[in-house]
Amino acid sequence: MRIAGIRSRVVQLPLDRPFQPAWGRGRVQRSLVLVLLEVGTDDGLVGHGAAHGGLEAAVALDRFVTPHLLGQDPAQVDRLAAVIRDAEILGPPPYCMEIPLWDILGKAAGMPVHRLWGGAGDRVRAYCSTGELRPARQRAEDVAALADAGFTAVKLRFHHDDPREDLAVAEAVREKAGDRIELMADANQAGADPGTGGHRVWDFRTALGVARELERLGFHWLEEPLPRHDLDGLSRLRDRLETIKLAGGEDNHGLHEFRLLLERGCFDVLQPDAVKSETASAIRKLAAFAELGGVDVVPHTWGNGLGMLVHLHLAASLTNCGYLEFPHDPPSGLTASARDRMLTEPVTVDEEGFVQVPQRPGFGFVLDEERIAHHTVHVIEQGDCGFAREDRGVSKGSAT
Ligand SMILES: [Mg+2]
Repeated sequence: MRIAGIRSRVVQLPLDRPFQPAWGRGRVQRSLVLVLLEVGTDDGLVGHGAAHGGLEAAVALDRFVTPHLLGQDPAQVDRLAAVIRDAEILGPPPYCMEIPLWDILGKAAGMPVHRLWGGAGDRVRAYCSTGELRPARQRAEDVAALADAGFTAVKLRFHHDDPREDLAVAEAVREKAGDRIELMADANQAGADPGTGGHRVWDFRTALGVARELERLGFHWLEEPLPRHDLDGLSRLRDRLETIKLAGGEDNHGLHEFRLLLERGCFDVLQPDAVKSETASAIRKLAAFAELGGVDVVPHTWGNGLGMLVHLHLAASLTNCGYLEFPHDPPSGLTASARDRMLTEPVTVDEEGFVQVPQRPGFGFVLDEERIAHHTVHVIEQGDCGFAREDRGVSKGSAT
Protein backbone atom coordinates (compact mmCIF):
# COMPACT_ATOMS: atom_id res chain seq x y z
CA MET A 1 0.00 0.00 0.00
CA ARG A 2 1.34 3.41 -1.01
CA ILE A 3 0.14 6.97 -0.54
CA ALA A 4 -1.08 8.08 -3.96
CA GLY A 5 -2.56 11.51 -3.37
CA ILE A 6 -3.18 14.10 -0.66
CA ARG A 7 -5.92 16.68 -0.75
CA SER A 8 -6.72 19.54 1.64
CA ARG A 9 -10.05 21.31 1.62
CA VAL A 10 -10.44 24.58 3.50
CA VAL A 11 -13.98 24.57 4.82
CA GLN A 12 -15.70 27.58 6.35
CA LEU A 13 -18.91 26.71 8.19
CA PRO A 14 -21.04 29.60 9.48
CA LEU A 15 -22.12 29.59 13.13
CA ASP A 16 -25.82 30.11 13.85
CA ARG A 17 -24.93 32.66 16.51
CA PRO A 18 -21.68 34.49 17.34
CA PHE A 19 -19.15 33.08 19.78
CA GLN A 20 -16.85 35.36 21.80
CA PRO A 21 -13.85 33.38 23.03
CA ALA A 22 -12.71 34.46 26.48
CA TRP A 23 -9.06 34.13 25.41
CA GLY A 24 -9.42 36.57 22.50
CA ARG A 25 -10.64 39.84 23.95
CA GLY A 26 -12.86 41.69 21.50
CA ARG A 27 -12.89 38.82 19.04
CA VAL A 28 -16.24 37.69 17.71
CA GLN A 29 -16.22 34.34 15.91
CA ARG A 30 -18.93 33.89 13.29
CA SER A 31 -17.71 30.81 11.48
CA LEU A 32 -15.74 27.65 12.05
CA VAL A 33 -12.77 27.19 9.71
CA LEU A 34 -10.93 23.92 9.30
CA VAL A 35 -8.68 22.14 6.83
CA LEU A 36 -10.13 18.74 6.00
CA LEU A 37 -7.26 16.40 5.12
CA GLU A 38 -7.61 13.38 2.85
CA VAL A 39 -4.83 10.90 2.17
CA GLY A 40 -5.62 8.41 -0.59
CA THR A 41 -3.81 5.13 -1.18
CA ASP A 42 -3.18 3.14 -4.35
CA ASP A 43 -5.49 0.38 -3.10
CA GLY A 44 -8.45 2.67 -2.62
CA LEU A 45 -8.40 3.46 1.10
CA VAL A 46 -8.81 7.09 2.13
CA GLY A 47 -7.81 8.44 5.55
CA HIS A 48 -9.24 11.66 6.95
CA GLY A 49 -8.11 14.20 9.48
CA ALA A 50 -8.27 17.92 10.11
CA ALA A 51 -5.86 20.74 10.76
CA HIS A 52 -6.66 23.51 13.21
CA GLY A 53 -6.42 26.55 10.97
CA GLY A 54 -7.22 27.78 7.49
CA LEU A 55 -5.50 28.25 4.15
CA GLU A 56 -2.14 28.93 5.83
CA ALA A 57 -2.17 25.44 7.35
CA ALA A 58 -3.20 23.83 4.05
CA VAL A 59 -0.44 25.60 2.11
CA ALA A 60 2.21 24.69 4.70
CA LEU A 61 1.23 21.02 4.74
CA ASP A 62 1.11 20.90 0.93
CA ARG A 63 4.55 22.47 0.67
CA PHE A 64 6.47 20.98 3.59
CA VAL A 65 4.85 17.59 4.27
CA THR A 66 2.94 16.20 1.29
CA PRO A 67 5.95 15.81 -1.08
CA HIS A 68 7.64 13.58 1.51
CA LEU A 69 4.60 11.34 2.07
CA LEU A 70 3.62 10.61 -1.53
CA GLY A 71 4.70 7.11 -2.56
CA GLN A 72 5.34 6.04 1.05
CA ASP A 73 3.72 3.14 2.92
CA PRO A 74 1.09 4.77 5.20
CA ALA A 75 1.30 1.81 7.60
CA GLN A 76 4.81 2.88 8.67
CA VAL A 77 3.36 5.57 10.90
CA ASP A 78 6.28 5.96 13.30
CA ARG A 79 8.73 6.45 10.43
CA LEU A 80 6.46 8.96 8.73
CA ALA A 81 5.73 10.73 12.02
CA ALA A 82 9.41 11.68 12.13
CA VAL A 83 9.14 13.08 8.60
CA ILE A 84 6.03 15.04 9.60
CA ARG A 85 7.72 16.36 12.75
CA ASP A 86 10.66 17.70 10.75
CA ALA A 87 8.27 20.19 9.13
CA GLU A 88 7.64 21.83 12.49
CA ILE A 89 10.43 24.37 12.09
CA LEU A 90 9.02 25.52 8.73
CA GLY A 91 5.40 26.45 9.35
CA PRO A 92 2.24 25.86 11.41
CA PRO A 93 2.14 22.63 13.49
CA PRO A 94 2.22 19.72 11.01
CA TYR A 95 1.31 16.93 13.47
CA CYS A 96 -2.27 16.67 12.20
CA MET A 97 -0.96 14.97 9.06
CA GLU A 98 -0.36 11.80 11.07
CA ILE A 99 -4.09 11.47 11.77
CA PRO A 100 -5.18 10.30 8.30
CA LEU A 101 -2.45 7.64 8.45
CA TRP A 102 -4.00 6.14 11.59
CA ASP A 103 -7.42 6.37 9.93
CA ILE A 104 -6.07 4.39 6.96
CA LEU A 105 -4.44 1.84 9.26
CA GLY A 106 -7.68 1.35 11.18
CA LYS A 107 -9.63 0.90 7.96
CA ALA A 108 -7.03 -1.54 6.61
CA ALA A 109 -7.21 -3.55 9.84
CA GLY A 110 -11.00 -3.26 10.11
CA MET A 111 -10.63 -1.86 13.65
CA PRO A 112 -11.39 1.41 15.42
CA VAL A 113 -8.15 3.24 16.13
CA HIS A 114 -8.50 3.19 19.93
CA ARG A 115 -8.52 -0.61 19.79
CA LEU A 116 -5.54 -0.58 17.46
CA TRP A 117 -3.81 1.47 20.17
CA GLY A 118 -4.64 -1.06 22.86
CA GLY A 119 -8.04 0.23 23.93
CA ALA A 120 -8.36 1.04 27.63
CA GLY A 121 -12.13 1.48 27.28
CA ASP A 122 -15.04 2.06 24.91
CA ARG A 123 -16.29 5.30 26.46
CA VAL A 124 -14.77 8.37 28.05
CA ARG A 125 -16.21 10.81 30.59
CA ALA A 126 -16.75 14.20 28.96
CA TYR A 127 -15.99 17.51 30.57
CA CYS A 128 -17.95 20.29 28.97
CA SER A 129 -15.43 22.92 27.90
CA THR A 130 -17.07 26.34 27.89
CA GLY A 131 -15.46 29.27 26.11
CA GLU A 132 -17.20 32.55 26.92
CA LEU A 133 -17.15 34.93 29.87
CA ARG A 134 -20.61 35.45 31.32
CA PRO A 135 -22.10 37.19 34.36
CA ALA A 136 -22.02 35.00 37.47
CA ARG A 137 -25.74 34.34 37.70
CA GLN A 138 -26.07 33.47 34.01
CA ARG A 139 -23.05 31.18 34.08
CA ALA A 140 -24.43 29.42 37.16
CA GLU A 141 -27.72 28.82 35.36
CA ASP A 142 -25.95 27.66 32.19
CA VAL A 143 -23.84 25.16 34.14
CA ALA A 144 -26.95 23.85 35.91
CA ALA A 145 -28.51 23.31 32.46
CA LEU A 146 -25.40 21.42 31.33
CA ALA A 147 -25.68 19.19 34.40
CA ASP A 148 -29.34 18.57 33.54
CA ALA A 149 -28.21 17.61 30.01
CA GLY A 150 -25.99 14.87 31.45
CA PHE A 151 -22.58 16.48 31.92
CA THR A 152 -20.81 15.56 35.15
CA ALA A 153 -17.87 17.96 34.70
CA VAL A 154 -17.66 21.52 33.35
CA LYS A 155 -14.71 23.85 32.74
CA LEU A 156 -15.01 27.62 33.17
CA ARG A 157 -12.84 30.38 31.71
CA PHE A 158 -11.07 32.93 33.92
CA HIS A 159 -10.38 36.14 31.99
CA HIS A 160 -11.77 39.11 33.88
CA ASP A 161 -9.46 42.06 34.52
CA ASP A 162 -9.94 41.42 38.20
CA PRO A 163 -9.59 37.72 39.09
CA ARG A 164 -12.00 38.32 41.97
CA GLU A 165 -14.73 38.60 39.34
CA ASP A 166 -13.72 35.19 37.98
CA LEU A 167 -13.88 33.80 41.50
CA ALA A 168 -17.33 35.31 41.98
CA VAL A 169 -18.48 33.34 38.91
CA ALA A 170 -16.88 30.18 40.31
CA GLU A 171 -18.58 30.75 43.66
CA ALA A 172 -22.00 31.26 42.05
CA VAL A 173 -21.58 28.15 39.90
CA ARG A 174 -20.57 26.02 42.88
CA GLU A 175 -23.42 27.39 44.98
CA LYS A 176 -26.03 26.56 42.33
CA ALA A 177 -24.58 23.23 41.19
CA GLY A 178 -23.59 21.97 44.63
CA ASP A 179 -21.49 18.84 44.54
CA ARG A 180 -23.30 17.19 41.66
CA ILE A 181 -20.73 18.41 39.15
CA GLU A 182 -16.95 18.49 38.93
CA LEU A 183 -15.52 21.90 38.10
CA MET A 184 -12.34 23.04 36.37
CA ALA A 185 -11.09 26.52 35.48
CA ASP A 186 -8.88 27.57 32.57
CA ALA A 187 -6.90 30.80 32.86
CA ASN A 188 -5.29 30.45 29.39
CA GLN A 189 -2.10 32.07 30.69
CA ALA A 190 0.21 29.90 28.58
CA GLY A 191 0.09 32.35 25.69
CA ALA A 192 -2.15 35.13 24.37
CA ASP A 193 -3.91 35.33 21.02
CA PRO A 194 -1.90 37.76 18.89
CA GLY A 195 -3.54 41.14 18.52
CA THR A 196 -5.95 40.70 21.39
CA GLY A 197 -4.34 43.28 23.63
CA GLY A 198 -5.54 43.63 27.18
CA HIS A 199 -5.35 39.98 28.12
CA ARG A 200 -4.83 40.08 31.86
CA VAL A 201 -1.48 38.50 32.67
CA TRP A 202 -1.24 36.78 36.04
CA ASP A 203 1.86 36.87 38.18
CA PHE A 204 2.81 34.10 40.59
CA ARG A 205 0.93 35.59 43.55
CA THR A 206 -2.24 36.04 41.51
CA ALA A 207 -2.07 32.43 40.34
CA LEU A 208 -1.47 31.21 43.90
CA GLY A 209 -4.31 33.30 45.32
CA VAL A 210 -6.77 32.10 42.68
CA ALA A 211 -5.71 28.48 43.05
CA ARG A 212 -6.21 28.58 46.83
CA GLU A 213 -9.68 30.04 46.44
CA LEU A 214 -10.52 27.33 43.91
CA GLU A 215 -9.28 24.73 46.38
CA ARG A 216 -11.75 26.12 48.88
CA LEU A 217 -14.50 25.74 46.26
CA GLY A 218 -13.48 22.15 45.56
CA PHE A 219 -12.35 22.68 41.96
CA HIS A 220 -10.69 19.69 40.30
CA TRP A 221 -8.05 21.54 38.29
CA LEU A 222 -6.72 24.96 37.40
CA GLU A 223 -5.42 25.10 33.84
CA GLU A 224 -2.60 27.27 32.49
CA PRO A 225 -2.16 29.54 35.52
CA LEU A 226 1.25 30.81 34.26
CA PRO A 227 3.14 31.16 30.95
CA ARG A 228 3.98 27.87 29.25
CA HIS A 229 7.74 28.22 29.71
CA ASP A 230 7.67 29.35 33.33
CA LEU A 231 8.67 25.92 34.53
CA ASP A 232 10.00 27.19 37.88
CA GLY A 233 6.81 29.13 38.59
CA LEU A 234 4.56 26.21 37.69
CA SER A 235 6.58 23.81 39.79
CA ARG A 236 6.63 26.16 42.82
CA LEU A 237 2.91 26.78 42.46
CA ARG A 238 2.13 23.08 42.36
CA ASP A 239 4.23 22.51 45.48
CA ARG A 240 2.18 25.06 47.41
CA LEU A 241 -1.23 23.54 46.66
CA GLU A 242 -3.01 20.81 48.55
CA THR A 243 -5.99 19.43 46.67
CA ILE A 244 -6.40 21.25 43.36
CA LYS A 245 -4.50 19.90 40.37
CA LEU A 246 -2.60 21.99 37.86
CA ALA A 247 -3.20 21.27 34.17
CA GLY A 248 -1.57 22.53 31.00
CA GLY A 249 0.54 21.84 27.94
CA GLU A 250 -1.77 22.48 24.97
CA ASP A 251 0.55 25.24 23.72
CA ASN A 252 3.76 23.36 24.31
CA HIS A 253 5.35 21.59 21.36
CA GLY A 254 7.39 18.44 20.97
CA LEU A 255 8.14 15.55 23.29
CA HIS A 256 11.21 17.33 24.63
CA GLU A 257 9.08 20.14 26.12
CA PHE A 258 6.67 17.67 27.69
CA ARG A 259 9.61 15.78 29.11
CA LEU A 260 10.77 18.99 30.82
CA LEU A 261 7.26 19.66 32.15
CA LEU A 262 7.24 16.18 33.65
CA GLU A 263 10.76 16.25 35.04
CA ARG A 264 10.27 19.66 36.64
CA GLY A 265 6.98 18.61 38.21
CA CYS A 266 4.95 21.42 36.61
CA PHE A 267 1.59 19.71 36.19
CA ASP A 268 -0.67 16.98 37.56
CA VAL A 269 -2.47 16.80 34.21
CA LEU A 270 -0.71 17.20 30.86
CA GLN A 271 -2.86 18.33 27.95
CA PRO A 272 -1.05 17.70 24.65
CA ASP A 273 -3.06 18.05 21.45
CA ALA A 274 -2.52 15.64 18.54
CA VAL A 275 -3.23 18.46 16.11
CA LYS A 276 -1.18 21.24 17.72
CA SER A 277 1.47 19.88 20.07
CA GLU A 278 2.76 16.49 18.96
CA THR A 279 1.75 13.44 16.96
CA ALA A 280 -0.74 11.02 18.51
CA SER A 281 2.03 8.37 18.48
CA ALA A 282 4.33 10.59 20.52
CA ILE A 283 1.53 11.53 22.93
CA ARG A 284 1.00 7.84 23.62
CA LYS A 285 4.68 7.50 24.46
CA LEU A 286 4.43 10.57 26.68
CA ALA A 287 1.43 9.07 28.47
CA ALA A 288 3.40 5.94 29.34
CA PHE A 289 6.20 8.04 30.81
CA ALA A 290 3.74 10.32 32.65
CA GLU A 291 1.97 7.35 34.18
CA LEU A 292 5.19 6.36 35.95
CA GLY A 293 5.12 9.67 37.79
CA GLY A 294 1.42 9.59 38.60
CA VAL A 295 0.65 12.31 36.06
CA ASP A 296 -2.47 12.12 33.91
CA VAL A 297 -2.63 12.92 30.19
CA VAL A 298 -5.95 14.47 29.21
CA PRO A 299 -5.58 15.65 25.60
CA HIS A 300 -6.62 19.15 24.67
CA THR A 301 -8.98 19.63 21.76
CA TRP A 302 -10.74 22.57 20.23
CA GLY A 303 -11.97 23.62 16.84
CA ASN A 304 -14.03 20.90 15.23
CA GLY A 305 -15.64 17.50 15.58
CA LEU A 306 -12.99 15.65 13.60
CA GLY A 307 -10.33 16.72 16.09
CA MET A 308 -12.55 15.82 19.01
CA LEU A 309 -13.16 12.33 17.65
CA VAL A 310 -9.41 11.79 17.24
CA HIS A 311 -8.90 12.80 20.85
CA LEU A 312 -11.79 10.59 21.92
CA HIS A 313 -9.95 7.57 20.47
CA LEU A 314 -6.70 8.77 22.04
CA ALA A 315 -8.33 9.28 25.46
CA ALA A 316 -9.97 5.86 25.24
CA SER A 317 -6.60 4.24 24.56
CA LEU A 318 -4.88 5.70 27.66
CA THR A 319 -5.06 4.27 31.16
CA ASN A 320 -4.12 7.60 32.80
CA CYS A 321 -6.61 9.89 31.09
CA GLY A 322 -10.17 9.79 32.36
CA TYR A 323 -11.66 12.77 30.52
CA LEU A 324 -12.53 14.00 27.06
CA GLU A 325 -12.55 17.75 26.42
CA PHE A 326 -15.98 18.46 24.92
CA PRO A 327 -16.16 22.00 23.45
CA HIS A 328 -19.74 23.19 23.90
CA ASP A 329 -21.03 26.48 25.26
CA PRO A 330 -24.70 27.13 24.55
CA PRO A 331 -26.42 29.50 24.07
CA SER A 332 -23.43 30.91 22.13
CA GLY A 333 -22.83 29.73 18.56
CA LEU A 334 -20.16 27.28 19.75
CA THR A 335 -22.20 24.16 20.42
CA ALA A 336 -21.75 20.46 19.79
CA SER A 337 -23.88 20.69 16.65
CA ALA A 338 -21.84 23.63 15.27
CA ARG A 339 -18.56 21.94 16.21
CA ASP A 340 -19.61 18.75 14.39
CA ARG A 341 -21.36 20.29 11.40
CA MET A 342 -18.97 18.54 9.00
CA LEU A 343 -20.25 15.21 10.34
CA THR A 344 -23.64 13.69 9.57
CA GLU A 345 -24.43 13.59 13.31
CA PRO A 346 -23.03 15.54 16.27
CA VAL A 347 -21.22 13.63 19.00
CA THR A 348 -23.27 13.65 22.21
CA VAL A 349 -22.95 12.53 25.82
CA ASP A 350 -24.96 9.65 27.24
CA GLU A 351 -27.13 9.94 30.35
CA GLU A 352 -24.08 9.34 32.56
CA GLY A 353 -22.02 12.07 30.91
CA PHE A 354 -19.82 9.76 28.85
CA VAL A 355 -19.08 9.73 25.13
CA GLN A 356 -19.12 6.37 23.39
CA VAL A 357 -16.19 5.71 21.07
CA PRO A 358 -17.33 4.91 17.52
CA GLN A 359 -16.68 1.27 16.71
CA ARG A 360 -16.39 1.78 12.96
CA PRO A 361 -12.95 1.11 11.41
CA GLY A 362 -10.51 4.03 11.65
CA PHE A 363 -11.69 7.05 13.60
CA GLY A 364 -15.25 6.45 12.50
CA PHE A 365 -15.77 9.83 10.83
CA VAL A 366 -18.99 10.02 8.83
CA LEU A 367 -18.64 13.18 6.77
CA ASP A 368 -21.54 15.25 5.54
CA GLU A 369 -20.06 15.57 2.04
CA GLU A 370 -22.87 17.68 0.67
CA ARG A 371 -22.51 20.30 3.38
CA ILE A 372 -18.70 20.19 3.18
CA ALA A 373 -18.79 20.71 -0.60
CA HIS A 374 -21.15 23.64 -0.18
CA HIS A 375 -18.84 25.36 2.33
CA THR A 376 -15.47 24.52 0.76
CA VAL A 377 -13.62 27.72 -0.07
CA HIS A 378 -10.30 26.30 -1.31
CA VAL A 379 -8.87 22.98 -2.46
CA ILE A 380 -5.20 22.04 -2.68
CA GLU A 381 -4.04 18.64 -3.91
CA GLN A 382 -0.95 16.73 -4.99
CA GLY A 383 -0.50 13.32 -6.56
CA ASP A 384 -3.35 11.16 -7.78
CA CYS A 385 -6.48 12.45 -6.06
CA GLY A 386 -8.78 10.42 -8.27
CA PHE A 387 -10.43 9.17 -5.09
CA ALA A 388 -11.87 12.64 -4.62
CA ARG A 389 -13.11 13.17 -8.18
CA GLU A 390 -14.56 9.70 -8.51
CA ASP A 391 -16.34 9.85 -5.20
CA ARG A 392 -17.39 13.43 -4.92
CA GLY A 393 -16.93 15.24 -8.17
CA VAL A 394 -14.81 18.00 -6.64
CA SER A 395 -12.04 19.21 -8.91
CA LYS A 396 -8.79 20.95 -8.15
CA GLY A 397 -9.15 24.59 -7.24
CA SER A 398 -12.90 24.50 -7.01
CA ALA A 399 -14.62 26.89 -4.66
CA THR A 400 -18.28 26.86 -3.77
MG1 LIG B 1 -7.04 25.23 27.74
